[in-house]
Amino acid sequence: MRYRTVPKTGDRISEIGMGSSFMFNAGQKAGSAAIRRAFEGGINFYDMAAGSGKSFPICGEALKDVRRQVIYQIHFGADYSTGDYAKSYDPDAIRRTLDWQLATLHTDYIDYGFIHCLDAVSDWERYKKNGVLDLIWKMQEEGTVRHVGFSTHTPAVAHHVMDEVPLDLLMFSINPAFDYGRGRLAHGSADDRLDLYRRCEREQVGITVMKAFFAGQLLSEKTSPFGRALSQYQCIRYALDKPGVLSVLPGAQSMEEVEQLLVWGELSDAETDYSELAAFAPPALDGKCAYCNHCKPCPAGLDVGLINKYYDLALAGDGMAKDHYLNLEKTAADCVGCGHCDDVCPFHVPQSSRMQEIRTYFGR
Ligand code: SF4
Ligand code: SF4
Repeated sequence: MRYRTVPKTGDRISEIGMGSSFMFNAGQKAGSAAIRRAFEGGINFYDMAAGSGKSFPICGEALKDVRRQVIYQIHFGADYSTGDYAKSYDPDAIRRTLDWQLATLHTDYIDYGFIHCLDAVSDWERYKKNGVLDLIWKMQEEGTVRHVGFSTHTPAVAHHVMDEVPLDLLMFSINPAFDYGRGRLAHGSADDRLDLYRRCEREQVGITVMKAFFAGQLLSEKTSPFGRALSQYQCIRYALDKPGVLSVLPGAQSMEEVEQLLVWGELSDAETDYSELAAFAPPALDGKCAYCNHCKPCPAGLDVGLINKYYDLALAGDGMAKDHYLNLEKTAADCVGCGHCDDVCPFHVPQSSRMQEIRTYFGR
């Protein structure tokens, strides 16, 4: 497993976490064994916005003796009083369900307390008015909540919240369908969405990713909006390549599905290459580097995707991007202009001339 660091908190979280209602169909014993295997295979990040309350005792049993080594993302506004998920704005119900979640997970603290599912600014205003936001801050002061984040599907709502309060994490839905304007939850244009990812990187708000497979639709040619199936690994890498992203949170309902996720760190670039998506990208993204590294290997040894990411972040006002760039072993100054990347780039980026532009911008 590979890990990324939450910029503001220093927590090291696995590139693949567990989310999306995991294990609730597996049964207590088999589910706990599979979650234990996930932990032993390196998955240390667990999102608890589960579709069923059954995920909690499964996770609690599997991880109670290693609680300090795992990180829970727990949602203020997800209610399990009926046994199934329901969204709630009732502060008493939210408090009761939090107590139940903590007891069931065998813990007395929350790593990341999340304001849950803000799909309109009015959701945010309700959580402010009904005292749930204050409850999170109070629990943070008391030490029960270590850090604070929020979840949304909508870039405009994310900007609104980030304009108002400092936060550590954002859970956001990232997949090529939504980024390319397909699907009911494809909020914001491709550029709007990219702007949000870049803002998160710039302001050191880490992104954890939900719906990376578009509710599984991208994994089948029958349901994919592109008419062809992608692998889960292509979808995971697609999300991880976006600025600000730290971890992708797929679900798993069995030991076998956990094992499929645990091979992540051993896959080759070819097995995760998603460049075929370029054929479906909206015109706004044509000619823009997607950081996909399909053009690897560069004969001069440049990490073309990363160099482009730092350049775009610097242009978007990220003060740290220049330092990151200048610390690279190879920079645009090492480009020999061979034209290989121009020839193979599926997104039609005139990369060799862009390297000259980047060299001029950074001075090396
Ligand atoms: S230049 Fe093209 S192939 Fe290379 S990383 Fe950028 S988008 Fe991918
Ligand atoms: S043009 Fe430059 S960046 Fe592109 S492959 Fe050749 S050496 Fe590498």
